[in-house]
Amino acid sequence: MKSQHVCVVGSGYVGLVTGTCLAEIGHHVICIDNDPAKYEALKNGRIPIYEPGLDRLVKKNVARKRLSFGQWISEGLKEASIVFIAVGTPPQPDGSADLTYIESVSREIAEHMKAYTVVVEKSTVPVETGEQIEHTITRYKRKDVPFDMVSNPEFLREGTAIEDFLHPDRIVLGVKSKRAEKIMRDLYAPLKAKRILVTDLKSAEIIKHASNSFLATKISFINSVSRICELVGADATQVAEGMGLDPRIGASFLHPGIGFGGFCFPKDLEAFHYISKKLGYDFDLLAVVKEVNEGQRIHFVKKIEKALWVLKGKTIAVLGVAFKPHTDDVRFAPALDIIDRLQSQGARVQIFDPIALEKAAPHLKNVTVCENAYDAVKGADCLALLTEWPEFKRLNYKRIKNLMTTPLIMDGRNCLDPAQMKKLGFDYQGMGRS
Ligand code: NAD
Repeated sequence: MKSQHVCVVGSGYVGLVTGTCLAEIGHHVICIDNDPAKYEALKNGRIPIYEPGLDRLVKKNVARKRLSFGQWISEGLKEASIVFIAVGTPPQPDGSADLTYIESVSREIAEHMKAYTVVVEKSTVPVETGEQIEHTITRYKRKDVPFDMVSNPEFLREGTAIEDFLHPDRIVLGVKSKRAEKIMRDLYAPLKAKRILVTDLKSAEIIKHASNSFLATKISFINSVSRICELVGADATQVAEGMGLDPRIGASFLHPGIGFGGFCFPKDLEAFHYISKKLGYDFDLLAVVKEVNEGQRIHFVKKIEKALWVLKGKTIAVLGVAFKPHTDDVRFAPALDIIDRLQSQGARVQIFDPIALEKAAPHLKNVTVCENAYDAVKGADCLALLTEWPEFKRLNYKRIKNLMTTPLIMDGRNCLDPAQMKKLGFDYQGMGRS
């Protein structure tokens, strides 16, 4: 395999994992981030995000001199012939994706490209962004340097990002030239991916938005089913199991609960809906998916209210704030919204999360942050389980019952065993389980 020189712009959850894994498979990578705090941390051997296994892999590849860090794109493009754009595409109030980071990175790439470069769009972007990047680079480049645009959407999941990157179920390459396709195939060759799907640029961009929107739809679908189950006294987890046994449906993403969050599903769903309307087709199914998702959080708070009658003055122990387990990411986490809603009704919140408390701190006002789950449940009128960290399943619930004022568990992720909880004397309520 020929080792390539790669520059990754944006060293966040996607960029840092991408850069590190490309170094791990033998390439020479420089990861750029213009956030001085992030750059300083990386330069000094500290990993600014929590992702299992990443710390070790970064250290290993820095020591091998295959991975380095920089703050400016000019440094990154000194040697690289492939540049990945992995900056954020956050949502704007109207639901559209904010592409200002992408645009400014495109201009900088144009300014500093030295020889033929493959520009890879790794960030999740609305369809036709690749074309805009291409126009921008063409307009701003100083010399007549050739380049090719590639869309290479990322499907990694936080918490299992390294495994997902190193063992992908598919790699999607949206390309416009055979030359770029060959370079990208060579780059990824050591991964021995099960399937490399080569498409045009726009189809690759739509694959990412459509995939995330579809998964979000699956979650909202089972959550709607779970509401019917609650009304008639059926068990949504059994219904989901029965549905999932059909290979046309599949079992994944059929878990009733408080809904999805994170940096991807909510914003990608909205951005896909926005772009569809802009293009002249209102994909309004996606608006309902969002509405159902938000409704689950409201419903969860209502369930606590129903159980406790009045929330004002009650103490709620919240276990879990990360949007899912094995990450410190709290962006658009359902837990933050639920905490807000509980507080707005006068409830006191005591919280514990094994990893995400530091990232959550700026969002938590008047919340008692606890060192462990047992401290969080002390004197609580309700335990609200909001992230399915495996350690929460292994807690000593007998001890928890003794520490609480009233033994009420509201399991927003259906991760505890209802029969066992009832046996211990809890008033246990899951989602979609009457
Ligand atoms: P992030 O916020 O963790 O990382 C983005 C990084 O880009 C930040 O560190 C920021 O400082 C840096 N940055 C911004 N402008 C820059 C510039 N001009 N030069 C250098 N660095 C710059 O975001 P993320 O979670 O890694 O997501 C990045 C993109 O990947 C988004 O489009 C997202 O939708 C997509 N994506 C994310 C995931 C995920 O699980 N997080 C998965 C697949 C795709």
